[in-house]
Amino acid sequence: MRLLLVEDEERLAQSLARGLRADGFVVDIAEDGPSGLEVAVRSDFDLIVLDLMLPGMNGFSVCRELRAAKVWTPILILTAKTGEFDEVEALETGADDFLTKPFSYSVLLARLRVLLRRATRERPVVLENGSLRLDLATHRCSRDAVAIDLTPREFGVLEYLMRAGGQVVSKDEVLDHVWGSEFDGNPNIVEVYVSYLRKKIDRPFGLESIATVPRVGYRMIARVSE
Ligand code: CA
Repeated sequence: MRLLLVEDEERLAQSLARGLRADGFVVDIAEDGPSGLEVAVRSDFDLIVLDLMLPGMNGFSVCRELRAAKVWTPILILTAKTGEFDEVEALETGADDFLTKPFSYSVLLARLRVLLRRATRERPVVLENGSLRLDLATHRCSRDAVAIDLTPREFGVLEYLMRAGGQVVSKDEVLDHVWGSEFDGNPNIVEVYVSYLRKKIDRPFGLESIATVPRVGYRMIARVSE
């Protein structure tokens, strides 16, 4: 999961980023309002953590501008202030949640996970198998919050297998759907790609989610939860 942290206090930014990276997030840091706005509009993040008091442009304005630019990434605002006024204003600017400094890291992490879950439900184009997620809109794969880097071809093979929802698919079907019917190379390329996928989506997590059906093909092993 890719997260943008907009925070001008360098020590706080660095320590938060360290923690979030250890928890599997890919973290970009922006140090002021205008650069945070720019990078959030330009790139696609799964979450944005936005400090309220920022040089150049405050968090409320950044938030408002992002929503005006149709960036719907969940936003959590960090505020040093307290009081109902901030809460109402934060929500009115399109923020999804807010947290008052000082806060505990574990509370922040829990809130971020809630925001991610909520965002996921609103997206129809996510395929899931247990903790494995394939987001077709953003072309991202993850297990738990850990982003898994797949090549376009690997993504295509996994998408085809996951769309079959536990049904067996043959190598020829995979070839047709992922390589195209004009492919005339060695069909064992499918085996090679399945082994690449296992090395990325299963082995590091001690799991097995792609079953080989001898002489027939492959199928995803259905998992409700892990
Ligand atoms: Ca600040």
